[in-house]
Amino acid sequence: MPTPTPQKFNLAGRRDALTRLGQARLDLLIIGGGITGCGIARDAALRGWTVGLVEKEDFAFGTSSRSSKIIHGGVRYLEYGHFLLVKESALERRVLRTIAPHLVHHLPFVFPVFGGESLLKVRAGLAVFDSLAGSKGSEKHENLSPEEVREQLPGLREPLKGGVRYPEYITDDARLTLENAQSAAEHGALVVNHARVQHLRMSDGRVTGCSVVDLIEDRTVEVSARLIVNATGVWTGGVLAEAGLEAEFSLIPSKGIHILLSAERLPIEGATFLRATNGKRGLAMRRLGYVYVGTTDDEYGGSLDRPRATRSDVDEVLDMVSDCFPEQHLGYDDVLATWAGVRPLIREAGKSTRDTSREDAVWVSPPGLITVAGGKLTTYRQMARRVLELADPDLGPAPGPPDRTATVPLPGAVVGPAGLAAYHAERSRDLIEAGVEPAVVERLCWLYGNQLDDLLAFGAEDLSWLEPLHPEVPALRGEVRLAMEREMALTLVDFMDRRAALLLFSPNFGLAGADAAADIMAEALGWDADQRTRELAEYREFAAEHALPPA
Ligand SMILES: Cc1cc2nc3c(=O)[nH]c(=O)nc-3n(C[C@H](O)[C@H](O)[C@H](O)COP(=O)(O)OP(=O)(O)OC[C@H]3O[C@@H](n4cnc5c(N)ncnc54)[C@H](O)[C@@H]3O)c2cc1C
Repeated sequence: MPTPTPQKFNLAGRRDALTRLGQARLDLLIIGGGITGCGIARDAALRGWTVGLVEKEDFAFGTSSRSSKIIHGGVRYLEYGHFLLVKESALERRVLRTIAPHLVHHLPFVFPVFGGESLLKVRAGLAVFDSLAGSKGSEKHENLSPEEVREQLPGLREPLKGGVRYPEYITDDARLTLENAQSAAEHGALVVNHARVQHLRMSDGRVTGCSVVDLIEDRTVEVSARLIVNATGVWTGGVLAEAGLEAEFSLIPSKGIHILLSAERLPIEGATFLRATNGKRGLAMRRLGYVYVGTTDDEYGGSLDRPRATRSDVDEVLDMVSDCFPEQHLGYDDVLATWAGVRPLIREAGKSTRDTSREDAVWVSPPGLITVAGGKLTTYRQMARRVLELADPDLGPAPGPPDRTATVPLPGAVVGPAGLAAYHAERSRDLIEAGVEPAVVERLCWLYGNQLDDLLAFGAEDLSWLEPLHPEVPALRGEVRLAMEREMALTLVDFMDRRAALLLFSPNFGLAGADAAADIMAEALGWDADQRTRELAEYREFAAEHALPPA
């Protein structure tokens, strides 16, 4: 059996975990390192099961790094009568703030009401939401005058009747996923990225194992498990089809895109629901010096590994936001980056992708295989609970305590009486004293929790770890080291996109700092000159695919 010694979350720890995966029969093997798979692995490991998780690319490679990045109650779903989903999501916000305060930032959401619309109806809807969410004090919605709406959303189109504001939360979806994977490993799970599951093995009509192909070190490991969980999001159907199996529910891939703007060009605070005069709807969210706007919601038949925004997707979003903020005169030149994500929606007869429920589906078929699909980032913990409930007849009582995912903090959480704000204030002072630019410090405090201690410790060893990757890129050399030593970053894209969020939230995709990051990774991971060149070329290509798409 895998020993409970926690795996190191780096290249060496990964190598060892993969070997150990092949040596013992696990209780649970999870396929897919998105938020769903990582959440299940963490929950199961906390309950004392022997757990493996295998991800074919990187944690959050799929939809879990391409969402709108909001931990939200889903007010919009009230319109469709999805009260249980709204209640569950609304309550989850509180739990995630407790276990990951460093990753769940306050985001005041404004619902503006225009002439011809009913302010009363919106207020009544928000009152229902408050009651489902159990909101207290400042968590409750507040009514805004037109002037107050304009203060938060300058340039919003007229005629404005007023609005409502209520608190939601913004996160870094990739880091939230990563910290769930790290936490699973801390509690005994064997967690491996860049390894693909193929060939589910059957014996007497039961799924009993699979082959895992290591895409970094070119080997194949045979893994056996009492139960396998297929948590592969939009790849669900493909994984089943490869084994000659069919999905119990019909899944429709639905693509949504976002465009990134500078907050100087759309100077809103917090976030807002957008409603264009032609009825198109979307969201705009502020993240430090950026505002991103989305999203489309269209049935999708393209590449699952590389969903990209098209020019017509961008036109749709630009038209919508320009209609809402006509004075800003936004155009293609304002689009700093784009991204696309694909949802695996559970098909509902007669409904469009936008109107289809975001609820998840979990089923066992054939014996030995649980499949989970759909859902939301916000409700990942509850999805994990539902999966483990379904695993109960096969696994029997858990060796450890029941669900602890609501109380055990994620690895980067700052615990202690002083709280996160005091921690960030203190570490900001230390970083600035060490010569780090205030703008970089602001980004670091947004992205990291207690990992700032690691960065400062690297700086104490050698101050050059606190130097920027490049004067134009607001990131430190030490973040590359952190990503490799503690966060299992194995490729340049792993670091630039999913660890440091430089692909989407830094000037020109952080390209100016890519060479320095590649140098640090090459030295630590033993890349030769060819591999370094390949990694840089891949990153440049990846960045180009996230730019304004060609007409
Ligand atoms: C545009 C958009 C915006 C959204 N915004 C929000 C939001 O703001 N808030 C919210 O709560 N939810 C949001 N969602 C929903 C949320 O992002 C998804 O529900 C969630 O990320 C799905 O996670 P997942 O783990 O199921 O899938 P994924 O993140 O796609 O993970 C599946 C993983 O399986 C891996 N995999 C596939 N095949 C194999 C294999 N053979 N072997 C090993 N690994 C494999 C893939 O590489 C992938 O990493 C949004 C979704 C979209 C599309």
